[in-house]
Amino acid sequence: MGIRENVERIKSLIPEHVVVVAASKSRKPEEILEAYEAGIRIFGENYVQELLAKYKDIGNRVKWHFIGHLQRNKVKKIVGIVDMIQTLDNIRLAEELEKRFGGVNRRIEVLIEVNIGKEPQKAGVLPEETEPLIKEVSRRFKNIKVKGLMTMGPLVEHPEELRPFFRMTRELFERLRDLNLDNVEMAILSMGMSHSFQIAIEEGANMVRIGTAIFGERQ
Ligand SMILES: *Cc1c(COP(=O)(O)O)cnc(C)c1O
Repeated sequence: MGIRENVERIKSLIPEHVVVVAASKSRKPEEILEAYEAGIRIFGENYVQELLAKYKDIGNRVKWHFIGHLQRNKVKKIVGIVDMIQTLDNIRLAEELEKRFGGVNRRIEVLIEVNIGKEPQKAGVLPEETEPLIKEVSRRFKNIKVKGLMTMGPLVEHPEELRPFFRMTRELFERLRDLNLDNVEMAILSMGMSHSFQIAIEEGANMVRIGTAIFGERQ
């Protein structure tokens, strides 16, 4: 099936209020534009160099979200290019975002990435460290707007095994929302990928990040 058919199938499977981010790592600009023509407006990229190359071709016709691990020394390259960073998980990265985005008088919207499965070596803040991190960001950084949470969920054999992790993330999301912190608007819960987006939506996701089910298998 082609990209257009894939996008249409996914749209038919999800409720209107759920935003689809096309995870476009390793995809060519032509493929991204095909998904754009089919109605996708947000593309998630994992690597700064790859994002910059695509940005040169495509520019601001689409919105770019950063969904990979972001190194502090690369932040300055993506100021003015990305609309959201979904992977804030430590205070030193937040300090750099404040410095670089604040330096040009921009605010950057972020999601806090949670390592909900508490897997060693995995990106994301631990669930119990999420509230202290958000509170510190809220208190210290006026150029960072926290818009919600993102999680990958642990590596599992069957997508259904992700359900309890998605549920825990949603419960954490709701607890944090009820704190009503300054500069924090808990509006977006980004979870679910090609094999798990329906389960994630059932557990409260309102943003899903889908690669393979849109573009086909990665080479
Ligand atoms: C690649 C990627 C996805 C999408 O994965 P698929 O299984 O191809 O849908 C989602 N989120 C992140 C952070 C990714 O790197």
